[in-house]
Amino acid sequence: MSYFRGGVHLKTNKELTRSLQIKNAQIPSKVFIPLVQHMGVPCENVVQVADSVKKGTTIGRCDKFVGASIHSSISGKVLKIEKWNHPVFDCYDGVWIENDGKEESEKFEKSNFQTSDVHTIRKRIQQAGVVGMGGAGFPTHVKLSPPHEKKIEVLIINGAECEPYITSDYRLMLENPKQIWKGVRWMAKALGVNKAILAIEDDKKECLDSMSKNISFDGLDIQVKVLPVMYPQGAEKQVIFALTGKEVPSGGGLPMDVGVVVQNVGTCFAVHQALDEGKPLYERIVTVTGKGVKNPSNLRVRIGTTFKDCIEQCGGLTEDAYSIVSGGPMMGIAQHTMDTPVIKGTSAILVLTKEDVHQQEEMRCIRCGRCIRSCPIMLSPTLLAGFIKKENLDLAKRYNVIDCIECGCCDFVCPSHIPLVHWLKFGKMLLRDKK
Ligand code: SF4
Ligand code: SF4
Repeated sequence: MSYFRGGVHLKTNKELTRSLQIKNAQIPSKVFIPLVQHMGVPCENVVQVADSVKKGTTIGRCDKFVGASIHSSISGKVLKIEKWNHPVFDCYDGVWIENDGKEESEKFEKSNFQTSDVHTIRKRIQQAGVVGMGGAGFPTHVKLSPPHEKKIEVLIINGAECEPYITSDYRLMLENPKQIWKGVRWMAKALGVNKAILAIEDDKKECLDSMSKNISFDGLDIQVKVLPVMYPQGAEKQVIFALTGKEVPSGGGLPMDVGVVVQNVGTCFAVHQALDEGKPLYERIVTVTGKGVKNPSNLRVRIGTTFKDCIEQCGGLTEDAYSIVSGGPMMGIAQHTMDTPVIKGTSAILVLTKEDVHQQEEMRCIRCGRCIRSCPIMLSPTLLAGFIKKENLDLAKRYNVIDCIECGCCDFVCPSHIPLVHWLKFGKMLLRDKK
């Protein structure tokens, strides 16, 4: 059974880490913290070389609405400000900080739930640098500030985590359910909604128990719903349709257009830490996994720690390690080096072996239509890729390439191994550049 059209059944491979408790990763001797960690406007650095910083000191600030602050994840000294590797943008400006081993921290004042107004809540979330922790990295306060004409009726908490291998949200729901609900309460207040629905996939029954048992406050209509295991069940549009039957409009529509805001469970946890504990977002849970890692683990990692450090703490690479991906196998980004930092959106570091990576020669399209049947957005990937190859962007736009959520289902099912998502991403990028 599926609650949305298209999609694919995947081997989840979550057994590598699902039973493993979150461990604190070692604090690195130095970190590189890029000044772009979210969608929207990048930050400007507000520190200089040789400045002393603490854990939680603001090192990057963005005064524009679609931006969120960036903080030091260790205490120490600013070593350098330079361009270095970035897991999404290949290379970006950032701040190197050398650890002084003191672990001194700088926190914000804790917020009082009863007396905080919605503007203060949103401002605090922005100052604490909270962005979507599911991977997209959209600044959270923006999603919590819908325009007046958009009445939000329901807050959806996304615990579906449908990407194979990744178990960071799963462990968070098992180990920190109360803290996640506290974050939900803040978000509901910021949005002025009294209804929240938590979505969990059917293969995470333990989370259903843990989250249901720990709802510890009144005044909010909370439902916990189980969805069938199907990729990409956790994508925003799919989870909204599955839970409410509403369809986000094509052509750049947003969940708030149908009265919904979706937040990932990790984001709820970060909001709780920002407001109840005054702790900025400078660490996150990362699943380090795949057959190419000796001891897969769920680690609590300081932002700016390198992938190499994380992998070494998991016993290092196996002999047949072949490819390193930031994120999951469907939507993740292949890396050319392990010397790249964990950022706020790094939910997983996946190391695949040669056996996992099926490099097969691309063949001609045989017009089988499988890509069309698998597309959860009802696009025609084969047609769109053809338009983009011929640089016919007007037709690609008319056939809604912009709606592609880059889920990878079409690539996965294509018997001719055509890199459809590559073409669709390329087309979207060209259209954005044309604006
Ligand atoms: S990557 Fe885009 S075109 Fe391909 S199946 Fe997903 S949404 Fe459809
Ligand atoms: S799945 Fe591949 S071969 Fe089949 S129609 Fe789509 S692009 Fe062509």
